Amino acid sequence: MTLRLYNTLTGQLDALEPADGTALRMYACGPTVYDYGHIGNFRTFLEIDVLRRFLRLSGVPVRHVMNITDVDDKIIRNASAAGVPIGEYTKQFVDAFFEDLDALRVETPETIARATEHIPQMAALIEKLAQAGAAYKTEDGSWYFRLKAFPAYGKLSKKDLSGMEDGARVDVDEYEKDSARDFALWKAPKAGETAWDSPIGSGRPGWHIECSAMAMEYLGQSFDLHCGGEDLMFPHHENEIAQSETATGVQFARHWMHVRFLLVDGRKMSKSEGNFYTLRDLLLKGFKASAIRLALIAVPYRHPLNFTFDSLTDATKAIDRLRTFKTRLTAGDFDAGESPAMQEAAKKAHADFLAGLANDLNTADAMAAIFELVRAANTAIDQRQFFTRDRDAILPVLRDFDAVFDVVDDRDAEATRRALDWATASGRIGDVAPELIAAQSLTDDRIEALVAERTAAKKARNFARSDAIRTELAEKGVILEDSRDGVRWKRK
Ligand code: AMP
Ligand code: ZN
Repeated sequence: MTLRLYNTLTGQLDALEPADGTALRMYACGPTVYDYGHIGNFRTFLEIDVLRRFLRLSGVPVRHVMNITDVDDKIIRNASAAGVPIGEYTKQFVDAFFEDLDALRVETPETIARATEHIPQMAALIEKLAQAGAAYKTEDGSWYFRLKAFPAYGKLSKKDLSGMEDGARVDVDEYEKDSARDFALWKAPKAGETAWDSPIGSGRPGWHIECSAMAMEYLGQSFDLHCGGEDLMFPHHENEIAQSETATGVQFARHWMHVRFLLVDGRKMSKSEGNFYTLRDLLLKGFKASAIRLALIAVPYRHPLNFTFDSLTDATKAIDRLRTFKTRLTAGDFDAGESPAMQEAAKKAHADFLAGLANDLNTADAMAAIFELVRAANTAIDQRQFFTRDRDAILPVLRDFDAVFDVVDDRDAEATRRALDWATASGRIGDVAPELIAAQSLTDDRIEALVAERTAAKKARNFARSDAIRTELAEKGVILEDSRDGVRWKRK
């Protein structure tokens, strides 16, 4: 099914298809590795993960390139404050970033490109711009892009730049919305700063040129899709377009996707407001990685996401429901045959799920289709109106759901354990929820043994002992569910 995706450049839903008829070439701006990733960053990376997974489910191979910005103003400032070289400073956050992506089940892009490993390509691009008269060097040896050289500047963010001052310059990587000025391509080294020698002089690249050079290095001068969070639209993406299209004379990316911001309790997330969360903060509070994944993708990417702890609790419940349902299907003993109503429901859910995602990645509609199916199937199973071929029709629907959402298959314990190991190693054990520590002290074998002992105690009518075991397990975050088929347990 062809994905129709909102294109910031055209202002409408456009079909997203590979121009070369083979693979979809996409570039996503990656993290600036000066700190641990926060849940806002991960919302953007997760929505892009939903996109690439849906493309693949629809039979479209992807060539996805993501950069790592491992040199910029903030990195230089922080590394120098810590008294270490920038490579040493960024390594811890690069490693943490990939560990976090793994915890959230975000697929690794086909190509990861680090800015510091592509300096020659950036310098060459600046040289090309200089030859075209679109870049100039200032007295200190820095290079700037001449905005007047690109009359289409503003076409992505639809900014009116009529008041633009010719020759006014800005040299910081990030700047205010209304200051469209000549921007830095290359910065001359200040005392003590990391610098690279290149044909255009000694210095380091500006943030914007990084992405232009690396995108074109791996995807060609013109490619299908460029993505990032909404804050990148201006100036970062606008500047990427200006540099790239001036240098090549052809369209840079045909399609632009921007993910709306995550807010916390309706407000901008910020450290000073005390509402700032990294992924690790949430894992250490005892939330499961799968619940965080679902909470961050449940709202379609073109809506701001208001993150609350209630939304995490809801996501946890939704995942429990799906996992219990899947166990019910795979472990259940059904009569041979089929129910026409169930067959119809499975077909409809599958079609609605795909149509939801094809419509600008509407994850909310796609999920609603699946939960409707779960509800109908649970009722049919309760009423013994559910048969082997119904199970066989529904399992592939769940499989396709999980090919994109990836929350049913349970690998949460591993992510939690890694977060705990990290907290222990970095002296943050005080941030860990007490029941999480207690729960980790219980191995699965120990839980099984206690559950068996409790069953035996109940049989022997030793209710004091059976209740004591239930209480002990509950205190350690293990919940017991008595059912007709025996006792099931799960970690909270
Ligand atoms: P950075 O590491 O700051 O370069 O950001 C990495 C990605 O996260 C970029 O695509 C940003 O646009 C995105 N991002 C940053 N803050 C938020 C937020 N609050 N909500 C959603 N995306 C964000
Ligand atoms: Zn970028």
